[in-house]
Parts: sequence; C-alpha cells; structure tokens
Amino acid sequence: MTTETTIREKKLSGICIVEGKGLGRAHFVGRVVQHDTVENITRQDVGEQIMLFNEIRTRAKEDYRGYAKSFKGTSAFDVSILNIYEHILDDPAFIGQVVETVTSKLYNLESAIRTVSNDFIKRFNSAGTSYFKERSSDMVEICEKLISYMNAEDGKTKSFNDEMVLVVLRAFTPSDILSYDLTKVKAVLSVSGGKTSHAAILARTYGIPVVSGILNLSELIRPGDELLVDADMGTVLLNPEKPVVEEFRALEIKAAYVSKTLKDKWCRPVYTRDGVHIEVLANVSLPQDALLAVEHGCDGTGLVRTEYLLSNRKDFPSPQIQVEYYSAIFKAMGNRECVVRMMDIGGDKIPEFFKMPNEFNPFMGWRAIRILLERRDLFEEQLRSIMIAAGASKANYKIMFPMVTTLSEWLEAKAFVNEVSERLGMPVPRLGVLFEVPLAILEMNTFTSEIDFASIGTNDLLQYLSAADRNNPKVNYLYNPTEPAFLKIIRNAIEVSRDNGIPLSICGEMAGNPYNTLLLVGLGLTRFSVIPRNIPIIKELISNISFGEAAENIRHIFAIDTADSISRWIKKINKQMVGDILAKIPWAE
Ligand code: PEP
Ligand code: MG
Repeated sequence: MTTETTIREKKLSGICIVEGKGLGRAHFVGRVVQHDTVENITRQDVGEQIMLFNEIRTRAKEDYRGYAKSFKGTSAFDVSILNIYEHILDDPAFIGQVVETVTSKLYNLESAIRTVSNDFIKRFNSAGTSYFKERSSDMVEICEKLISYMNAEDGKTKSFNDEMVLVVLRAFTPSDILSYDLTKVKAVLSVSGGKTSHAAILARTYGIPVVSGILNLSELIRPGDELLVDADMGTVLLNPEKPVVEEFRALEIKAAYVSKTLKDKWCRPVYTRDGVHIEVLANVSLPQDALLAVEHGCDGTGLVRTEYLLSNRKDFPSPQIQVEYYSAIFKAMGNRECVVRMMDIGGDKIPEFFKMPNEFNPFMGWRAIRILLERRDLFEEQLRSIMIAAGASKANYKIMFPMVTTLSEWLEAKAFVNEVSERLGMPVPRLGVLFEVPLAILEMNTFTSEIDFASIGTNDLLQYLSAADRNNPKVNYLYNPTEPAFLKIIRNAIEVSRDNGIPLSICGEMAGNPYNTLLLVGLGLTRFSVIPRNIPIIKELISNISFGEAAENIRHIFAIDTADSISRWIKKINKQMVGDILAKIPWAE
C-alpha cells in the first residue's frame, strides 16, 4: 500500500473487489470505538432493556463455553482467552455501569454497551502495559458479541441520514451488507475479501463498490471522514477537495443516464447479429433482487441463492416465512423461468443459528447438498415450501442442487425429491445440477441422462481447480478465469450439454462480467445468469456480436498456453468487435 499526501487530501491505495465509485462518510463496522449517535428510550422500556442485557450476557457465556469445548484438545486456539471473556461478562463493574447508563441516562442497550465499553477501552489503553492493552481488545470482542445478538433480529436494518462508506476492520461478510439500509451505503472498504466472496457478490448486486487490502485503515481514517472511493482504480481519496467532489457528482449523473438508457432499451429478448437467441437470466438472493432483475430486463432467474432467506435471523424460518419468500420471487418473475437453488449453507454462508461443527477448511467441508442429505428435515421443509409456493403461483420453476460431487450423491437427492413430491401429491419439479466441483463437471456426460438442466458455478469451480481461496486477495493472482485448463473445461461442458440436449447456463460471476461476454458467446454459451444490474449492458453487447464470428475468434485461445496471453487476446478482440459498447459501461470512460 502507498499513501501520497497533498495539503488536505490523502490518497490510499488497495485492491478492487467490486467495481464502481462512491462518495460518503466513514462508518466503522466491527469496531467498538465507533461512536454512533446515542439512541434514547423511555422510562417504561428500562426493565425490558435490562432483561435483554441479562439474556444476551448469558447467551454470550454459553457460546464461549461451546467454543471452548469444541477447541478442547486441539492446539488451534488458546481456550484460556474464552475464560477471560466469561470473566468480563460477569464483571460487576461492567454490568453495573451498563445498567446505570440505561436507567439514569435512558440510553438504549446498544448505546449503553458501546459507551461503557469505550470507557473501559480508553482506561485500558491509557494504562500503557501490554497486559491492559490486551484487555482492551477483549473488551472490543465482548461489546461486538453482545451487540451482534441485538442486531440479528428478523428484517431489522440500520439506517443512516447521510450517504456512508462502510469501513470493515476484518474480513467483510454478507451480513455487513445486509444489516444496513443499502440506499445509503455508497461503498465499502474492507481489510480483506475476494472478488467472488459472497459479500462481494451481494455488494455487486446492489451496485456498491468495494476496495480491500488498505493497510492501517483504522489509523488513517476516522469515523465521519469524507471518502471518495474509486474501486476501478483501487483508490480512496480521504477528505477530497470541493472541485473533485463536484466532478464526481457530474460523472455520477452521466453514469446514471447511460444505465437508464440501456435499461429502457433491453426489456426484451436479445439475439446475436446472426440471429442466435441468447437468454440473459438473473442471479437473485432476496425478493427485492427479483424486482430489480425484472426492471433490468431479465429473461428469468438462473440462480436464486435461497440461503439468504436465513440471513439476519435468530431461528430457522418457519414454513410460512419460507413460502412467503418463494411466492414473492415467483410473483415478481410472472411466467418467466425461475431456477431455485436449494440452500447452499456452509463455506462463508453460515447462519447465526445453525450449529456448524468447527471446520478448518469450511469450503471443503460440510456444505450445501452434503448438509441437505444429512438433514432431511431441512431438505424436506425447503422443498415443500418451494413446491407449495410454486403451485399456488403457477410458477415456471426448476430446482437446482449446489456442490454436487458424485453421481450417487445426485441420485440420492433426486430420489428424495421424488419421495417428497409423492407425499405432497404434486408433480416432480424439473431438477438440475450446479456444476461447481471438478469431479462432477469432468464427468458431466454421466449426469446428462439424470438431469433436466445444468448450470456452471464458476466461482467455486475455479477455486477448487486452482486451489486458490475465492475470498483471499493474497492468492487472487491464481484465481484466474482465463487459465487455459479452466477454459477447456468450460468449453467441454458447453459441448457435452449441447450434444445431449441439456440446457446449460453459467451463473458464476464470470458470466456477469461484460468483458467476458464475447468470450462466452464465442465458446457457444446461450444462457447467461448474471447480477441484475449488468443485464442491459450484456444484452447490448450480445446484440452487437455475431455468434459465428465470435466462435471463429475465440477458437484461437486454445492454441495459447498462458492465462496472461489469453487475457491479452480477449482484450484485443473485445476492442475490435465491441470496443465502442464496452466504453459505454458507467464509469468506464
Ligand atoms: C458459484 O460457485 O459459481 C455459484 C454460483 O455459487 P455461489 O457463488 O453461491 O457459491
Ligand atoms: Mg458455489
């Protein structure tokens, strides 16, 4: 990281995780020294807040005891720290001051915990010895832990008056995005996070740029500082000068105009210049994304990430809540096709209430279909809810399974869907596999007689093929969709599905990047599933590409043996064939 100091502005550099630009004031997430505005309560609420305090303290102690048990006997973690946390949670001084702040100042519990924790931290820090400095970070942990329970209420989001930039002083997670009023979040700065992490995918869906990898964030930026984030360049301007802000605002208006023009144009199907129909479907997580997708001209949804139904909840959602969620998505889609993916729990998507075993390698662990086959209760409840909602909405739906690794695993899941459909007295839905594990995609031909459709999850597929964690910017240089072996696997999968009459889409982030549209059309892809916002630009590109010509040009990449040279080739033909359209992408100029 470099910093260049001018008189007032300061420029910080990091890595682009989600493209775009945004301007707002710094709001720290996951840091107790942040002073949010204090929220007051009435005297009648005091008793309830004190009871809540006791409840969440007990819950935190139980959680710490649970962690201590799961780490016992391993050398992974010094469990004595967990005893210190319990000790702080029972400390009469801490408890007394929080209760006093609630009862006499009428602060709500969150404000009281933050204020008291801040006092403790200041005192520990000023004591100077390393022992007390460590206690101050323990206090941060306790404060964040207690507050996290309060913020995990169904549907509750934090709102701001001003436009904000979230500053996340740890790895950036999906809940960091989902906990806030997204109309006010203009960018995110985070200590770490990869381009296809689930948090990044969500941010991209909502048009929120993300920069990561800036060192010493907490020392360089203060809460409330004005920040101009240019994720395309991976830079952040701290306290930008007025003319810079004015120039940004003018560009923002221009970008909005280009987006709107393309959006208005593409609420219709798209054909290549030589008449091949290409479907552009949407990836959605929440019902509001489905509305956004329709507004942006989707031809259906190619991926509903249903595990987001579990975000920000204290308990597993009841069948009624589940049916409402699916019904809202089906209603938004009308008679368009809708591919609902069964819950992909695990990896970096672990709901707060879900008892996950402690895993050293969660992306390689108990995840998705592996959980569903063991937890048939959850499997059946989700399936029933989807089918009931689909039946009532007369939805044109399909069900897709994530992380399928072997044919026998797939046949087991399929047999269970047949059983549940029979119990429900409903027709068996069309079923498909999300090919994202190398063992499965390399044997796609053995699946074709057992599936109705297929999709490729390039986000996971690439991390498993390259052994490079999709969330880790440090190894991002290896996570490259132009690797020759990866492109050969994609090409073969497209051929196998075409030869066997199986519709195939790509729903990983690779398909949503407009710089890959020509490449994928050239490989023969006819179904894209992408973030709603990028549908118009991708349709615009497709309408200017000839299917035959793209195939002719892309064929050459298989004679090239390095990812860098392939990237250069793609860049060159992009420029030749669709350069003027790519230049229209908001902020690209
Ligand atoms: C993928 O892995 O490409 C995919 C679409 O699934 P997710 O990103 O939700 O893991
Ligand atoms: Mg995946």
